[in-house]
Amino acid sequence: MNCELQNILDKTASDCRKMTRNGKQATYIPELAKTDPGLFSLSATTVDGATFSAGDSGALFSMQSIAKIISLSFSLEMFGYDYVFARVGMEPCSEPFNSIMKLEMTSSIPLNPFINSGAIVIAGIMAERFGRGAIDHLLEFAWKMAGRKRRLCVNERVFMSENSTADRNRALAYFMHSIGTLSAVDKSLILYFKLCSIYADTNDLSVMGGTLANAGLNPITGERVLSRETACTVTGLMSVCGLYDESGEFAVKVGVPAKSGVSGGIICAVPGKMGLAVFSPLLDAGGNSVAGMETLSRLSREIKLRGM
Ligand code: GLU
Repeated sequence: MNCELQNILDKTASDCRKMTRNGKQATYIPELAKTDPGLFSLSATTVDGATFSAGDSGALFSMQSIAKIISLSFSLEMFGYDYVFARVGMEPCSEPFNSIMKLEMTSSIPLNPFINSGAIVIAGIMAERFGRGAIDHLLEFAWKMAGRKRRLCVNERVFMSENSTADRNRALAYFMHSIGTLSAVDKSLILYFKLCSIYADTNDLSVMGGTLANAGLNPITGERVLSRETACTVTGLMSVCGLYDESGEFAVKVGVPAKSGVSGGIICAVPGKMGLAVFSPLLDAGGNSVAGMETLSRLSREIKLRGM
């Protein structure tokens, strides 16, 4: 199986890398526009701890929205389900990830922790409790999920770039402050930008996905990083709202819990089987990696990710 899986990854990577000419890079965070658009990497980590990679594995990129998995998992472990879901909802959202409209029209709390407003609230919970030390707790937790020798860190250039072009996120945060949903605006935003700027490669992300797929047990180190309940909650949310407005299409074409980010990464947790991660910076109109979506659709069929 292992040799076969490596062959499938190699073949899929070589086919899908040709699609790295389609789509558009995210430029609203200027630093993201500097990434080589031709990069492509693909990694898998099975729940029994075997890892595989193809393409430009080792290419680092900022996690962006994928890091919302880390902050949600950590908050659930630290503060518990009831506390977290009193502050954010768990329903999919049909508006763009940075929309203010739904928040104003329907509810005083963000619809879910994967849209920006929800992730800023989660960052706020952490900033309230840990102050400036919050990012170190998150990096430590991310490193345990990734189970690699190299420590994960914030890319300061991406952080500065986000921080200086964040009018939309500031608008969301100030709006939430005005209705009593968020207390410390600046501290929450700074933590949120740092979180999005964590640098990782697809190897790191596939182990993180493997940890979720393995009910919270890191398949490489054997360490229990999060509880089975947290893994179920996070993967449940990934299934319904992990791919922005294309979550439905992704559920049909790929059918596994996943989370994407605007830098072009997508992480998957295939319960009881493996973690997968793909990276290619050019995005479709929904903000998801064009080559990444195609790669995961093909792999879903080739290796029967849905188990049927
Ligand atoms: N840092 C990005 C933002 O706040 C994350 C967006 C994303 O990856 O969805 O806009």
